[in-house]
Amino acid sequence: MSVRSHPVVALAGASKAYEDVVALRSADLVIERGELLAVVGPSGSGKSTMLNIMGTLDRPSTGTVRVAGHDIDDLSDRELSALRASTIGFVFQQFHLATGVPALDSVADGLLYSGMPRRERRRVAERALRRVGLGHRLYHEPHQLSGGEKQRVAIARAVAGDPPLLLADEPTGALDSRSGAVVMELLHELHEAGTTVVVITHDRDIASYLPREVRLKDGRIEHDSAVGAASAALVPEGALR
Ligand code: ADP
Ligand code: MG
Repeated sequence: MSVRSHPVVALAGASKAYEDVVALRSADLVIERGELLAVVGPSGSGKSTMLNIMGTLDRPSTGTVRVAGHDIDDLSDRELSALRASTIGFVFQQFHLATGVPALDSVADGLLYSGMPRRERRRVAERALRRVGLGHRLYHEPHQLSGGEKQRVAIARAVAGDPPLLLADEPTGALDSRSGAVVMELLHELHEAGTTVVVITHDRDIASYLPREVRLKDGRIEHDSAVGAASAALVPEGALR
């Protein structure tokens, strides 16, 4: 490993086609360690497609994807799963918590790949649940939790193994505005503690509060506030539109 750290994610000319639909068109995106950014766009603009590709859940039709310096084309499915498990935490709109499973087990099961013994997994899971303010809900099952609490369990599961990258797809989409604000605050805290956080949202208000905004429209990145700022000095005003 070189001393200089790799970007957490780098997409170059990444496209994804589904039969007759082009969901992502030649996306170029570099995410550096420690960033907190929004990927924003209307429904159907390709946000989830981009998240699945940067999260290595799906491979692009064309273009390259590097995660933590690894070109995913160089990795077998098995190596890719290992990279994903150690590097990326996922949070989804619908929480994805199994029915009847207590919070502590949901989070501990997320650490199965790590090779930690069961007792250690449960200790780490408890710590993660305390971190998201759910130390008093360790044995609650999903049906005994509010939407906001379910999402906090899902976040605890995503970060329990301390992955450098957290990808959240519409994490507040199923929540009332107050629970949504709590979840966003938590994502800010994780970012401040060093995690790189990508928040996918169709909500422009949420996006505008984050330090970097990447806007998607019809599968294309139409604006990236980081790139916009860098190229503003080089491109005459109005030329970017
Ligand atoms: P968003 O998350 O912004 O709502 P998506 O990435 O889910 O958008 O979808 C982008 C486009 O790709 C949409 O037109 C959608 O219908 C299409 N799409 C997404 N996934 C599939 C799939 N598995 N098969 C066919 N079309 C898909
Ligand atoms: Mg989506």
